[in-house]
Amino acid sequence: MKKILPTSTAGSLPKPSWLAQPETLWSEWKLQGEELAEGKRDALSLALHEQQLAGIDIVSDGEQSRQHFVTTFIEHLDGVDFEKRETVRIRNRYDASVPTVSSAVSRQKPVFVEDARYLRAQTDRPIKWALPGPMTMIDTLYDAHYKSREKLAWEFAGILNQEARELEAAGVDIIQFDEPAFNVFFDEVNDWGIATLERAIEGLKCETAVHICYGYGIKANTDWKKTLGSEWRQYEEIFPRLQASSIDTISLECQNSRVPMELLELVRGKKVMVGAIDVASHDIETPEQVADTLRKALKYVDADKLCPCTNCGMAPLPRHVARGKLHALTAGAEIVRRELAG
Ligand SMILES: [Zn+2]
Repeated sequence: MKKILPTSTAGSLPKPSWLAQPETLWSEWKLQGEELAEGKRDALSLALHEQQLAGIDIVSDGEQSRQHFVTTFIEHLDGVDFEKRETVRIRNRYDASVPTVSSAVSRQKPVFVEDARYLRAQTDRPIKWALPGPMTMIDTLYDAHYKSREKLAWEFAGILNQEARELEAAGVDIIQFDEPAFNVFFDEVNDWGIATLERAIEGLKCETAVHICYGYGIKANTDWKKTLGSEWRQYEEIFPRLQASSIDTISLECQNSRVPMELLELVRGKKVMVGAIDVASHDIETPEQVADTLRKALKYVDADKLCPCTNCGMAPLPRHVARGKLHALTAGAEIVRRELAG
């Protein structure tokens, strides 16, 4: 029988201090060349080991092979000039200096496929791999070529589909697209955002997921969250269209978030990765706190569709905190599993 409430993480885990500066988002690599390549592989093995020790059921690379969840993918593409930078507003929230799309974008070679194979060879558990979503990719660039957000998103969707098909062939069980931009540009999400995401998963036989979130615990995000009021109803705008889409799983944050749990009713029938671990706090949840969040979610998500998860990536956390949170997640899930069985 398939295990119910299989646990997973939304994405990143902290990097070891010999690879990159800890407790810092998007920190620079400390190694170069062949040493860096080997260091990334070692860190991936370590991240896998930590997950397996904690009893996580669906494991990942902990995003040890990327510096940034969007930029690292884009760096491998043609058509984007990283020397030519412009300042743009990211998700209507903060300014950042970003690379320029200067000609037609294309993918000449696989980006993460070797890393996925390396992970696959080391575990029999289901593996999940994260890619940026098309809308979040375009929001991280200055476009001097297509001059249309939608057009560029369709181009990226085709490229993501090439990568996703090769990840599937490498043995990846679940491909997740990170789309924090889905929480901001509701009209575009419904007009073409979800359609481009469906283009990215076209023809895949493996499972697919979309992670929508309110971001890491960085200041720009926590300041923005303060403006959202006592109830975060952003998901309400896009859930009906997502429910009707061909995406299998929706990943979102439920621990210490102000998302009203009843919004999950709008995606009934989909699998839901329920964030039961707050990544913006160093406090380690108790198993009982995790169980409590899962019980609340179970009112709106069928038990065979619920996957206990973290709210978002844990890259900025100290390693012992992330480790503690992984253990709390699996212990909390086990409490609820026993309740359901009893
Ligand atoms: Zn996230």
